[in-house]
Order: sequence, then C-alpha cells, then structure tokens
Amino acid sequence: MSEKHDHEEEPTTPGDRLNLRADCENCFALCCVAPAFSVSADFAINKDAGQACPHLQPNFRCGIHTRLRQQGFRGCTVYDCFGAGQKVSQVIFGGQDWRQAPQTAKQMFEVFPIVRNLHELLWYLTEALTLQPAHQIYDELSLALQETERLTHSGPAALLELDVTAHRQGVNALLLRTSELVRAEVQHKKKNLRGADLIGAKLKGSDLRGANLRGAYLIGADLRDADLRMADLIGADFRGADLRGTNLTESIFLIQSQLDAAKGNTKTKLPPPLTHPTHWHGIE
Ligand code: SF4
Repeated sequence: MSEKHDHEEEPTTPGDRLNLRADCENCFALCCVAPAFSVSADFAINKDAGQACPHLQPNFRCGIHTRLRQQGFRGCTVYDCFGAGQKVSQVIFGGQDWRQAPQTAKQMFEVFPIVRNLHELLWYLTEALTLQPAHQIYDELSLALQETERLTHSGPAALLELDVTAHRQGVNALLLRTSELVRAEVQHKKKNLRGADLIGAKLKGSDLRGANLRGAYLIGADLRDADLRMADLIGADFRGADLRGTNLTESIFLIQSQLDAAKGNTKTKLPPPLTHPTHWHGIE
C-alpha cells in the first residue's frame, strides 16, 4: 500500500522532469479507476469511469502487472500520467485515499484527468525551455510554466471550474512557435505532415529531419533507419510503428508512451530523458 506521508514537492524547473514521472508508490491507482475502458486492442474489459478495475488489489497494486500485454491490457503499459497521480493523491487530497474517504472519491476521479492534462503541458513546456533555438521566447515559456504549475495547486473546486481547453490552446500556441524555431535550424525543405494519414506507410530510411509530424497517424508505419532529428512529434500516433534503427535524437515533443506503443531496438536513437522500453529488448 502507498505510504501516507507529507509529500513535499519541488517546483518544476527547466531540464528537470522528475516531478513529471509517474510515482505509482505514492498514487492511489487513479489510472486504474478514474477512466472508462472499452473493449479494444488496448483493454480486455469494459469499465465505467470511477469504477475500479477488477485486477486492482486492495493495496493499490495491479494483480496482473507482469502479464498485462498477454492478458489484453496493452493500454495500461503505454499510459503515462506525467506525475499527476501522485500530485492528486498526496498533494491535492493530502494522502487520503478514495477507499478511506469515499465522500471525496468522485471529486478525486474528476480532478485527476484535469491535473494529468496540466502535467502533460508542464512536460512539454519544460522540454521547450531546454531547446536553445527557442531562447527568444524563454520568458513567455517560463511564465506559461509557472502559471500551469500554479493551476495544479489551485485546489479541487477551482480545478473542476478550470477551462483546461482554453489554457491548453494558449500553451499550444507557444509550443508551435517553439517548433518553428527549432525546425528552422534544418536548412533543407522540410515536410509538413501535420495530422497526415501515414498508417502503414513505407518510410524506411526516409529523411524526415525537421518535419512537422504533429498528430500524424503513423500506426504500423515502417520507419526503420529513418532520420527524424528535429522533427516535431507531438501527438504522433506510433502504435505498432517500426522504429528499429530510427534516429530520434533532437526530435522534439516525443514522449515515453509513444515509444512504449511502438517497436524498436537498441539501435533506435532516442533523445534524453527517454529510454528504450523493456519489450524492445532482444529485438534485432
Ligand atoms: S489491469 Fe492492472 S494496471 Fe491495468 S487498470 Fe487494471 S489494475 Fe490497473
């Protein structure tokens, strides 16, 4: 069971994304309860929002943790709360879990996706502040980071009132400017594939340096040995994409869950702080 203790938090600073990583030890398994599941390739069961998954144990641990993919719960292996789980559990709700305090459970489950949304923005803003070509907008990025961090501490009632979509749009405008500044560093003509349908596309060895791949559908695409340096990959769907030997160093706005949903190997080059998923091990 998660230990109950005062959870002191350091503010998010550029280059430091430790607070934005899931700490399941200090979370009341909110991702196993708050969202609804529908039977699909990602989930073996239907479940309503706010209903605990039947595999969740009394100690807030998963009963099938080592067999998630085999048991049809691939969606759980690629989920990332960006550290929202521990903040909602320990900071916003003061370490009182939803079993002990059923009167606040509904509020906790509704607050969780809002804080997750804000933490995702914190992740991207923190990355943007490490990108040298974006230095001319560092002040605006820093202000957006501080404001987003402040919102995550504004309490359950205020969070439920928050217009997250409007805040997200403001941050997204800054991330777009960051993207343009970074991709301008690539001298040759860059591909604009924003939102493109590239499902199953044969892109082996392609030069996609500086490409705009925001929200592109790359499900099952063959990207072996492709060069995606300085490409904007925010929201790109890499489910089942083949990233063996792909160069993703200096790509921007790539997150771990995108890699977790793809296939790659030790030759796949990644930007820090991302890591090779364990299910890539042993793939040639
Ligand atoms: S299968 Fe395990 S990780 Fe997935 S929702 Fe259920 S308890 Fe959580």
